[in-house]
Amino acid sequence: MACYIGRLSRTTFKLVSGREGAWVECEAFSRIPWLVHAFSTRDQGKQAALKPRRGAKANAMGNDGWRLVSDLGAGDFQRASLRQTHSSILYSVLPNLGSTTVRYNLSGYASAADKGKPHSPSGDALITKHAGILLGVRVADCLPVLLADRKNRAVAAVHAGWRGALGRVVEKTVGEMRRVFGSRPENLIAALGPSIRSCCYEVGEEVVDAFSGRFAGAEGFFRRSSPDSEAANRRLPLFFAQAPPGHGPEDHPGIYLDLVAVARYQLENAGVPAARIHVADYCTACRTDLFYSYRKEGSFAGRMLAMIGVRPASSR
Ligand SMILES: [Zn+2]
Repeated sequence: MACYIGRLSRTTFKLVSGREGAWVECEAFSRIPWLVHAFSTRDQGKQAALKPRRGAKANAMGNDGWRLVSDLGAGDFQRASLRQTHSSILYSVLPNLGSTTVRYNLSGYASAADKGKPHSPSGDALITKHAGILLGVRVADCLPVLLADRKNRAVAAVHAGWRGALGRVVEKTVGEMRRVFGSRPENLIAALGPSIRSCCYEVGEEVVDAFSGRFAGAEGFFRRSSPDSEAANRRLPLFFAQAPPGHGPEDHPGIYLDLVAVARYQLENAGVPAARIHVADYCTACRTDLFYSYRKEGSFAGRMLAMIGVRPASSR
């Protein structure tokens, strides 16, 4: 099994450098003048040089993708983010008139008359059609999904790890954009950012069981790797490959989850055309030179930020 990298076109995403750092951009999004977006990368600055301390806050390292906002021309945007819990809870975000904060209206209650929650509530997806608000979700292996409605000028940011994907967070977000903004799925563009890919995302049988119970054809989300092909993949030294049965590291086939396949299934199921779904061909666990990876680096791994917003007319 070859690594995910190289199987997809590199032309739809590019790495961009600014004064405050580098980010990954989806070219289909970059062509839309009213849209601002970025998938931040590993902080290459002084934060990255700090050694993690025992007891340090798990995601304290390199947690500030917001540093890129001035490079993106979004320095004066209001920021919206969540306390992420691997749920499928989502909010629509509105400006708080006369204040520098935003309001979060829980899915299903998103009318302008609602009071909304003032501070980052618990949840895993955000939508807005208000200009000047930057939605952000934090990731370090989980899949960030950004959505843009070309006609209605509405956007969404989704944090989709396996639990959120199991709860259909991506599909629910499209449904909520339809309900709240009248978005038509055929007008949506999706950008799936860097995440751990099926080359590296080994999971247990319980994850297969969980998806099989909720998705028809869930087997297509997984790759099973035989001991032989695994050994070949990892180019193990001969003495490992020849370990006695029951004692070698490759005696059990591994199961690998393809989060991109799950997100793609949900987007297409919700009516987003396949040709409008763009996938960044970066595996965070393969490319720790560019990204943080929870699997590779543990709980001290930093977090990247996937951001999206609508530019106010005056700044276009
Ligand atoms: Zn990988």
